[in-house]
Parts: sequence; structure tokens; C-alpha cells
Amino acid sequence: MATDLIPFNRPYATGREAGYIAEAIANSHLSGDGAFTRRCNRWIEDQTGCTRALLTPSCTASLDLSAMLLDLEPGDEVIMPSYTFVSTANAFVLRGAVPVFVDIREDTLNLDERLIEAAITPRTRTIVPVHYAGVACEMDAILDIARRHDLRVVEDAAQGILAGYKGRPLGAIGDIGALSFHETKNIICGEGGALMVNDRTLVARAEIIREKGTDRSRFFRGEVDKYTWQDLGSSLLPGDATAAFLWAQLEEAKQITAKRVALWHSYHEMLAPLEQEGLLRRPIVPADCHHNGHIYYVLVAPEIDRNRVLGELKAAGVHAVFHYVPLHSSPAGRRFGRMQGDLAITDSLAARLVRLPMWIGLSQAQQQKVCDTLELVVSKLQPVQGKRLGRTF
Ligand SMILES: *Cc1c(COP(=O)(O)O)cnc(C)c1O
Repeated sequence: MATDLIPFNRPYATGREAGYIAEAIANSHLSGDGAFTRRCNRWIEDQTGCTRALLTPSCTASLDLSAMLLDLEPGDEVIMPSYTFVSTANAFVLRGAVPVFVDIREDTLNLDERLIEAAITPRTRTIVPVHYAGVACEMDAILDIARRHDLRVVEDAAQGILAGYKGRPLGAIGDIGALSFHETKNIICGEGGALMVNDRTLVARAEIIREKGTDRSRFFRGEVDKYTWQDLGSSLLPGDATAAFLWAQLEEAKQITAKRVALWHSYHEMLAPLEQEGLLRRPIVPADCHHNGHIYYVLVAPEIDRNRVLGELKAAGVHAVFHYVPLHSSPAGRRFGRMQGDLAITDSLAARLVRLPMWIGLSQAQQQKVCDTLELVVSKLQPVQGKRLGRTF
């Protein structure tokens, strides 16, 4: 393997994380809901306008909490894309609900809102749009369907921090939103997440479920004189040292996002000629969406073996990766879920997708190397050697 491999990801630190963690230790409050957690919650509320933000140990935990909060029951159906991370589905399967996989849009790789209504049955309870790469789903259409069929909307906004749809922040549009601060996301704390509650009637119970089913949050606010077991729940609070790390990142979240968006645009410009030559397709961002530079991906031609592209890139010093194995084709997805239609777009695009290195500190020269190497590899792997396809796909 090349020694100067350009890594796919490199977690970014602002430099203030360790100082804030030391402060959390000095505060003598290392369990959940300490000063840093409250600061982070308030930041998310101020930035997004959500009614209540609550830090959690992960986006997965936020989705688990959502499924409990919405009282999903065995046999209930939840509409979602198959092209997503396992937690989107697993959270609802834990309640006995059935994920119903709907195909994605060719342009954004997001849930195709035009196919949702055909998937609705008397058992449908919830729609889970996933904002892939921080590019918003068609939320107006999704909210309209939800209203007409009396369904809840949980936004999987794991990749969506500081991205928006028609000026509205992702995660603050549906009834509930879930953010991730996993090391691979834009804003990080190792493992972490947040629940965004937008429907105020859900706030009190969200706090109870997150606090092991107790009204401990109300007790700490002095609203009750003791706390007791009220409902089902789990331990869904991160410790305050984790929140201290996160606070260092939230303080710089806008600069971090701007740097990623600039890297995204560099790739987009460098790869324009390759798209014109029909060698690949670049991401498409609808005018209503402002994204956050979370992922830069390309789609290679259907005739090209994507895994060979990844192998040859790596041999040449570029670590690029594929993304989701569609859930409907995974063992647990087949066992627990149901397909709506043949999911042809999902299968085709997932098999053609290549994610390029994206991290703060990636230099212009490194990006140029990624693009030059990609051009060499995809040109070589074209079915007709050396012949440019001269088409769009
Ligand atoms: C990363 C991710 C998750 C899981 O986030 P964790 O914080 O690691 O639990 C869920 N859904 C999507 C779409 C993701 O990208």
C-alpha cells in the first residue's frame, strides 16, 4: 500500500476540547445534564428553533428514543429509505415495528416522496426521511402526506447539522429530529447525538424516557419534590465530559461547516470536466436545499465495477469508500422489513457510489491528486478502453 495514502477521514479538533474537559472535571459534574450539556442543548435550540434539544449518547440512541416516544407497537409500519444506516430501521424494529423500504430519488439519493403514498397502509404510523449528505429531503411534500394520513415524521438528520431546506434547519422540520456527533460526522465528540423535539406535546415524555423512565429532569428543575418511575425509558444521557468536547466544536460549528463546503465546491469544480465527458456523475443539490459539505460522492458509470475503482484508487494512494449496503438486501432488513416495489434506483445508485476523502486540512494539491487519480482509474475501467462515453447518466 502506498505510504502517503490520503485518508478518507481525519477527525478535526478545534484545540479547545481538552480545556473544556478539564473544566468539566473541575466542575465536579461528570454525569449527564451538567453545565456543558445544557450549553450544547441551548445552542442547538438557538440555531435550529427546535422546541427542545436533548443531548444523547448517539443518533442511534435518539432514534431509539423517538420510537419509544411515538409508542410504536408490534406490526406498526414505518416508511423509510433502504439506502440508509442500520439505526434508522433498527430503532423501530426494537419496538416490533416493520420498516417499509421505499425507493430513493435519482438526483439526491433521498426518499422519493412521490412513492410514499403507495406504501401507506392502515398500519402506517411514521415516515422517516433521511437527509443524505446533508441535502434535505422534499420536506414540504412529506409533511403534506403526513398531515393528510395522520402520520408522524422523524427526521434522521444524523448528517444534517447546519444544513437547511427552504431556510428551515434540518431536524427542526418534522415532529422529531435526530442528530449525530459521531467521529465521522461534521461536528463531533467521539460518540454522541441529540434529540430535537419540535412538537411541544412530546417534550415532557422525551425527558422522562431519556432519564430511565423517571421525572428526574423535573426534580432537578424543582418542579417536583422527589423523582419516581413514571414510564418506560433507558439511560440516554451522555456524560458532561463528552458534552464539554462537543461544546468546543459547536462554538466553531459555522467555521467548520464553511471549510467543508469550500472543500465540497473544490471537488465539484475539479470534477466538472469528467462529468461532461460522461465518466461520472457529480452530486445534485436542489435549489431549495443548502447543504453542509458532509459528503462528496461521485456515481461511476453502471458498466464500471465500483469495487475495482476503490481498489485501484487505494493502490494509487487515495482512500475512497462506498456507502450503505441497502437495508432491504441485508439479512436483518430481509427478516424485519418489507420492500415497496423493486427499489431499482436504490440498488443501482448504491452500487455505483464512491465517497471521496473529505476532512478539514485536506489540501488543494491532495484534492487535485484525488481527482486526477479518479480520472485515470475510471477512464481505464470504461468498457471500451480509452473511449469516452460522451453521455450523461
Ligand atoms: C451516522 C448515522 C447514524 C448513526 O449515528 P450514531 O451517532 O453513530 O448513532 C444514523 N443515521 C444516519 C443517516 C447516519 O449517517
